[in-house]
Amino acid sequence: MESTQVIVAGAGPVGTVAALRLANLGYKVILCEAGANCAVDLRASTFHPPTLEMLDELGIADTLIEKGLKAPIYHFRERASGDVVEFDLSELEGEEKYPFRLQCEQHVLSNMIAEKLAEHPNAQVKFNHRVVHFAQSDEGVEVALEGPFAVEKIKGKYLIAADGGNSIIRKWLGVEFEGFTYPEKFLTLSTKVELKDYIDNLAYVSYVSDPKEWMVLLRVPSVWRILVPADESQSDDYLLSDDKKNQVFNDLIGRTDVETEHRTIYRVHQRVAKKFNHGRVALVGDACHMNNPLGGFGMNSGIHDAWNLCHKIEQNLTHGHDDERFAMYDRQRRPVTHSFIQAQTMQNKKMLEHNPEENHGLRLQEMKDFRDDPVKRKAFLRKQAMFTSLELERSIK
Ligand SMILES: Cc1cc2nc3c(=O)[nH]c(=O)nc-3n(C[C@H](O)[C@H](O)[C@H](O)COP(=O)(O)OP(=O)(O)OC[C@H]3O[C@@H](n4cnc5c(N)ncnc54)[C@H](O)[C@@H]3O)c2cc1C
Repeated sequence: MESTQVIVAGAGPVGTVAALRLANLGYKVILCEAGANCAVDLRASTFHPPTLEMLDELGIADTLIEKGLKAPIYHFRERASGDVVEFDLSELEGEEKYPFRLQCEQHVLSNMIAEKLAEHPNAQVKFNHRVVHFAQSDEGVEVALEGPFAVEKIKGKYLIAADGGNSIIRKWLGVEFEGFTYPEKFLTLSTKVELKDYIDNLAYVSYVSDPKEWMVLLRVPSVWRILVPADESQSDDYLLSDDKKNQVFNDLIGRTDVETEHRTIYRVHQRVAKKFNHGRVALVGDACHMNNPLGGFGMNSGIHDAWNLCHKIEQNLTHGHDDERFAMYDRQRRPVTHSFIQAQTMQNKKMLEHNPEENHGLRLQEMKDFRDDPVKRKAFLRKQAMFTSLELERSIK
């Protein structure tokens, strides 16, 4: 039976980062991906500054930055009044290495890393290999992979489950995925039409608040992306139709002749696994937490999970397995997921949708207070850029 030190399930952004981190640290890794390649889908597009620092340690930040757009400024806008509350990460210049968000599609990262791993002496990438079963003992894990023509078994010391929101590994472990699914769907449309020609002072990242139809406007190198909520009673056929597309663009820029590059519907969840580590298996990324995309925290926090976990695995592979050390991954990352990622994304959604239980005027005023007070502004910038959540993680011993 083929044997390695670490098996990673799933070649999304989180699994690929985990695999490259361990391979660079000198450990043998096999990355198994069910698909024929890294999925090219339009999900995450924002990389926060601490994530870029991690990618820099992997030696890939510069190349990613060349492929993306630097976005130091982001806006909270009021759709009806046009009121804009601006935040500018350039204020962290001299304090942090990357004082901007990077706007770039997540598949650019996964594909770039998969190419590096294919050449890496410590790594092997197995596309078209789905994890279908695993068993673990005190010594390690044995994983069954369904390939195109046969089921093969491999063994390793650890299994990292980066197999996404539907994680079969989480389900086998019987771990509860506590939380809820939003009743509404989220529709994303993308277009090559330059929205800056129609909307004054439009930042690459804009959260637009409105009681009727809030939205997020995001620039990536090839397109503008528009994310709007959609009532659950509206059928998928209608949401993907020209009628819906025309309504969105007519309301936004007064045009119904806009061509779209993509139209995608997402169901959105706020869920966290009850435990992130289980014997020799650990869950990372969407496999152990999902949240709404308002703030751009899902993939970023998954990469932060992988970073933390790889450190524990490195220590265990060097000094011998220690349950306590492995469990520290759960102790550090799970509270951060609850207190920051879940809490902040839910708060961001309430801010945008004028939630009736909230006083929107007060929330807006609070945002303006953050903007106008240098101390509060710096704290807000650092929190939204995810520095604060990493500080919290490191403070947990
Ligand atoms: C509209 C939208 C916008 C978003 N924007 C942002 C953003 O700006 N910033 C941000 O940080 N996050 C964002 N997110 C969230 C982000 O997309 C996810 O958090 C991220 O993709 C999670 O990465 P992952 O690697 O954990 O999982 P995934 O990207 O889902 O990858 C899982 C991989 O595992 C593979 N797989 C599944 N089962 C198996 C198996 N049994 N065996 C082997 N392989 C398997 C899958 O094929 C897939 O390749 C957004 C999400 C949505 C829906």
